[in-house]
Amino acid sequence: MQLKGLATLKLQSIIRAEKNNEAEAMDLNTFREETRDWLEDNCPQDMRLGAVHFEDAYEVYRSDAAIQWRDRAAARGWTAPAWPTQYGGGGLAKEQHQVLAQEMARIKALPPATGMGLAMIGPTLLEMGTEEQRQRHIPKIITGEAQWCQGYSEPGAGSDLASLQTKAVLDGDEFVINGQKIWTSGAQYANWMFALVRTDPSAPKHEGISFVVLSMDQPGVTVKPIKLISGSSPFCETFFDNAIAKREDLIGEMNKGWSVGKRLLQYERNATTRTKPKSAGKPKLNPYALVAKAYAGEDSQGRIADEAARADVLGQVMQEKALSLTTQRVVEESKSSGAPGAATSIFKLVGSSLSKSGSELKSRLRGTSGLVWESSDFSADELESTRGWLRDRAVTIYGGTNEVQQNIIAKRVLGLPD
Ligand SMILES: Cc1cc2nc3c(=O)[nH]c(=O)nc-3n(C[C@H](O)[C@H](O)[C@H](O)COP(=O)(O)OP(=O)(O)OC[C@H]3O[C@@H](n4cnc5c(N)ncnc54)[C@H](O)[C@@H]3O)c2cc1C
Repeated sequence: MQLKGLATLKLQSIIRAEKNNEAEAMDLNTFREETRDWLEDNCPQDMRLGAVHFEDAYEVYRSDAAIQWRDRAAARGWTAPAWPTQYGGGGLAKEQHQVLAQEMARIKALPPATGMGLAMIGPTLLEMGTEEQRQRHIPKIITGEAQWCQGYSEPGAGSDLASLQTKAVLDGDEFVINGQKIWTSGAQYANWMFALVRTDPSAPKHEGISFVVLSMDQPGVTVKPIKLISGSSPFCETFFDNAIAKREDLIGEMNKGWSVGKRLLQYERNATTRTKPKSAGKPKLNPYALVAKAYAGEDSQGRIADEAARADVLGQVMQEKALSLTTQRVVEESKSSGAPGAATSIFKLVGSSLSKSGSELKSRLRGTSGLVWESSDFSADELESTRGWLRDRAVTIYGGTNEVQQNIIAKRVLGLPD
């Protein structure tokens, strides 16, 4: 009798759970329909570009269409869809966020906003900032009012970042900063910087560092763009000559900035290796095969005619697919808030290596047409291919080089001794 009662209760709870699932699925379907309509009405055609390289992003995101798209999305918190509503974020649940990403991918919508505010300092402040700091900075990241750059690297401190020498001296309510940063991406467009500075020169190198944020719009800060091998200048040298950071803009504790800085790097690696959601509909044509067939032709079975090129394309595509599936699996398996861990170094290492080998392959498949810098005899695609190949030389360097990622994986993921 008691057993029968228990079975009934169990059955009732299963039915209830199923009903809840159905209701959630229904809500999600309604959310999808509303999202689709909203995107159709609000995402400008000029922002339906699929993707832009980070070097081009600074220009693309300064266009009128980009600003319109950002402002419309920010008004409903969708520049930061999963961030808490109390700071102006979208407050979307994980499933709703996925639906939004899928619907954006369907129409090839670029994210309404990008940059280091959303990808790096925002998540770090949400996790490690004070409530007062969150309230002061997060809403401006969401609206795009604050554009951020990263002041980590110095001429003598790249991979060995803890050797940094830029000095900050606390004077009353202000830090007075002197020194130099280098490779500061987007410094010429930014109005805020997050920086690692030395606040105790006598302490062991990892222990005398603090993490501060400072305004770029002040007389003590000078930026000088550096030209890259691909022809553009997305990054700068940044000089501090008695620049000021407010004491209230010290993130974390004084001289304990190394742990804040390292956490931010995990968010950076997470952002640079995140896979894009697949849009529903026809599978995309393999971009390498398209190039290979255009230059090497097709055989009688419709395959890439050149056997060696076919093998290279197959190898690249299989590795990209394996990375994409592994990333999706890890994201789905992650029961936590999705905050990144040391394993992001694996994705940074493999993802950046594949980006580089992919653009190298496209250039190689074009033969000599994949090496042209400027000529009216060659197509825009061919010229872009050369620049893309040169640009992607940088992906295995920024955010920590491949060798540095391998060191992190050895120590933090595999637990090998120093
Ligand atoms: C496009 C681009 C954008 C960037 N944007 C920014 C930015 O916005 N802000 C910022 O602060 N920095 C930025 N950087 C700098 C970037 O983080 C550094 O270039 C990177 O950390 C490497 O430092 P480094 O250039 O001083 O090279 P180094 O550290 O001098 O390294 C030289 C070589 O030695 C190897 N090496 C060094 N140490 C080890 C080791 N322990 N074990 C094995 N090999 C090692 C490296 O892997 C590399 O191959 C950017 C870089 C690029 C290319």
